Amino acid sequence: MSTIEEPVKRGHCPRCRGPIPMSKGIFASDFRCERCGVRLFVSGPYVRIIGVLSVLVGWLLVWTLGIRGFFFVCLFALLAPFPVIFVMVRVAPHVLRPVFVFLKPGTLTTLRLGNGPGRELF
Ligand SMILES: [Zn+2]
Repeated sequence: MSTIEEPVKRGHCPRCRGPIPMSKGIFASDFRCERCGVRLFVSGPYVRIIGVLSVLVGWLLVWTLGIRGFFFVCLFALLAPFPVIFVMVRVAPHVLRPVFVFLKPGTLTTLRLGNGPGRELF
């Protein structure tokens, strides 16, 4: 018997290994696995890629719509990513299933040494 666990597949629960139905609800802060009830988060790199792609597509939309002038470019460049991310969170999980993690991704890592949220799950 091997002690090495198989890696968790994309779109599956890291605890029970069951498939997770894709919806925009997977991005909610209180999302839980339907089978085992563990609180899950979409991995940080996946969320960051969706954010960056939304900004780039939003800026591309501003550019292709022919919006020119410093004021309008700044205004629409700030506003355009929001409708794009509205669509991205609904479409992206069906195109590329995310990896789920137990801990909320953040900008800082505590190497799981802290007593923060999610620690009680282990
Ligand atoms: Zn589960």
